[in-house]
Amino acid sequence: MKTIGLIGGMSWESTISYYKIINEEIKNRLGGLHSAKIILHSVEFAEIERCQASGNWEKCGRIIGTAAQGLETAGADFILICTNTMHKVVPQIASMIRIPIIHIAESTADELEKCQIQKVGLLGTKYTMTQDFYKQKLIDRGIDTIIPDEADVDVINNIIFNELCVGEIKTESREKFKKIIDGLKTQGAEGVILGCTEIGLLIQQTDSSLPVFDTTIIHAKRAAEIALNS
Ligand code: GLU
Repeated sequence: MKTIGLIGGMSWESTISYYKIINEEIKNRLGGLHSAKIILHSVEFAEIERCQASGNWEKCGRIIGTAAQGLETAGADFILICTNTMHKVVPQIASMIRIPIIHIAESTADELEKCQIQKVGLLGTKYTMTQDFYKQKLIDRGIDTIIPDEADVDVINNIIFNELCVGEIKTESREKFKKIIDGLKTQGAEGVILGCTEIGLLIQQTDSSLPVFDTTIIHAKRAAEIALNS
């Protein structure tokens, strides 16, 4: 079994989900007492968030890249960055290590292809929704990607940072997400990407009028699969 290097803490609420899903997947596949080989580097999220908000992505890349180097030295065979947003700096991080990074948007595109989704709604932080680094990965695979309007981008971003990343799960926020997903459906989306690793703490398939593609589940299961395929 390969050793998985996790870069977490962005936020730690969703890193717990990664740890649980990866281990559950290994147990499902191998049974008995089997569990995943994982090395976790959990960062200080307040520091990362300050760099994001001030546009200092280079510093974000340096912090995460240094974490990735540590995981490589400690024996990780490949890396997962447990957040969609920080995939913005994947090229910088990849240039600092020799082991592969399993890209969350590419893993998600694989799932969308399997389900023959041609037009998808994307929910995530304002960075993930409005910038190109994430959407381009989907567009490159021929998947038309739409996002909510400007006001709803703010609503979602605020719920992520002010509630989900600090462990607050509110019914009224779930209702807001449901309405936004309905709006994406009206615009022709055939599925919705939960493109922020905390959204799954609030929204499940039963809350959504569209098929849900939860990036945390997709990414974590992919890691378990790779860990077992030598
Ligand atoms: N976990 C979130 C994501 O998947 C947001 C936290 C961050 O800004 O990294 O994008």
